Formats: sequence, C-alpha cells, structure tokens
Amino acid sequence: MLRLTQAPNLAIATLWADALAAEGITTSVERQYLAGVAGQLPPDQCLPEVWIHRAGQETRARELLHRLQHVPQQRWLCVCGELVEGGFEQCWSCARLMPR
Ligand SMILES: [Zn+2]
Repeated sequence: MLRLTQAPNLAIATLWADALAAEGITTSVERQYLAGVAGQLPPDQCLPEVWIHRAGQETRARELLHRLQHVPQQRWLCVCGELVEGGFEQCWSCARLMPR
C-alpha cells in the first residue's frame, strides 16, 4: 500500500479512485470514515486519501492522476436548473448526463 495523494473531499477521492481502477490500477480510499469526526482533528488529517496497492503501478498512477487533476474545469447548466461544476459529467441533483 502506498499513498498516492490526498483529495479535497470524498467525492473527488472516489472519482479519482474509480478512474484509476478503470485503468487497471488497484486503489482504495482511506480516511473517509474520519469525515464524521471532522472538527475534532486538524482538517488536513481528515481529508480522504487515495492509496494504491502495488508500488509497481505508482508511475502510471501518478501520470493518470496528473491528467485527472488538470482536466479543463467545466461548468454546465443542467436542464433541472442546477449549475454543475468541477469536471463532473453528471448532474448531482437529478443525475442527468452532461449534454454533448
Ligand atoms: Zn440536473
């Protein structure tokens, strides 16, 4: 197990972990359980982390992560009226996909 990165929140940690898993890299999201006790610990110790299981996949994982972290930030207005930001392609409110 090797810590790849810290994510600003659980949604993004999960997004990155899923994207890495889709490329065949075994990942897990750690510390997510601490979100519930946030406030009792320094904030930087409550953030979720993405870990990889095999050190041999680190280089590839870091390349992919770099790409994920540098996707052009897109924002789009969903038909339900929700403004979706942060690179998500699905509305978090009504689950419609981003129009292409
Ligand atoms: Zn929507």
